[in-house]
Amino acid sequence: MANIKIDESTCTGCGLCAANCPDVFEVGDDGLAHVISDKCTSCDIKEIADQCPVNAITVQ
Ligand code: SF4
Repeated sequence: MANIKIDESTCTGCGLCAANCPDVFEVGDDGLAHVISDKCTSCDIKEIADQCPVNAITVQ
């Protein structure tokens, strides 16, 4: 099971992660991304983390 974390002090709320994988990421009313599930059957979450422009996502 993946341990996915978002650094809220770094996330800009750009929405890229949520656009790439809405099963796992959601941009909340607070304008920050949140993890809503720790797994996705169709995405490589590490790849999505690598695409975050400010490297706010860590996957362990
Ligand atoms: S891609 Fe990164 S900066 Fe953009 S909403 Fe997701 S965690 Fe935040």
